[in-house]
Amino acid sequence: MGKKNWENNNMDEDEPTIYDEIEIEDMTYDATTQMYHYPCPCGDKFEIALVDLLDEEDIAVCPSCSLMVRVIFEVVSSHSSESVPLFRCLLG
Ligand SMILES: [Zn+2]
Repeated sequence: MGKKNWENNNMDEDEPTIYDEIEIEDMTYDATTQMYHYPCPCGDKFEIALVDLLDEEDIAVCPSCSLMVRVIFEVVSSHSSESVPLFRCLLG
């Protein structure tokens, strides 16, 4: 049994295999479900919840093929007394 094609995955072993890195501006926000979506090559969509992003989770997963993408986003303010979303420019 030969090894799989891991040569392109130069990552720590505890890191999931990331298919791509997506800027959050390129994702679609669904205000109803409070989920971000991005088209997956399999035809389904990567998805990650806003609360996950707020919890510093940045891996969106496609439920159909289990591919993962890393969401690139910037934390605007980590300790504001206002209830300002991190992504107010997108939500506004
Ligand atoms: Zn997929």
